[in-house]
Amino acid sequence: MLGIVRMLDKHRQDIEEFDRRNPSSKSGKKECSRCGFCCWRRPCDLDEEDVVRIAEYLQIDVKSLFKKFLVVDEYNGYLVVKPRRIYQEGGVYLTPAQTFETEPCIFMVEVQGNACAIHSCKPRVAKEHECWVPRILRILKPQEWTREKLMELGWDGIQREDDEE
Ligand code: SF4
Ligand code: SF4
Repeated sequence: MLGIVRMLDKHRQDIEEFDRRNPSSKSGKKECSRCGFCCWRRPCDLDEEDVVRIAEYLQIDVKSLFKKFLVVDEYNGYLVVKPRRIYQEGGVYLTPAQTFETEPCIFMVEVQGNACAIHSCKPRVAKEHECWVPRILRILKPQEWTREKLMELGWDGIQREDDEE
């Protein structure tokens, strides 16, 4: 019971911290100012359509896209696919601790502000993300992937633990 209370308290602190640091919610804007904060904090979850669309945009096949630019991660027990961080290896499983607030997304380029290099075909969650809405009011639904689908992308199926880094 005490563990659940601590977990909920930590979750509440995370939400408050996000809303406090989030630039659009701080300025009262109701639109994306392309500050790049969310791309530094936690890259987008990609669904299957995103992966196909981005591969087409970059003119590579989906397996090459996965190996070069994407990683497998976990969110609340769901397996998800994300762009890797700039200094990370692609095509592998990374623990949530390795993908949270470490480095910017590989598709983040610092031109015209913090811009997304795949902006014209950017992931669905990026289009729908409204950081100015308090996070506690947003439904965070992960783009869940099955192990089978991930292995079709070329994943080796190995899930490491945080302390194996
Ligand atoms: S959606 Fe992301 S990039 Fe846009 S203003 Fe919010 S934190 Fe910045
Ligand atoms: S894919 Fe684009 S919008 Fe999504 S985290 Fe990376 S840089 Fe940001």
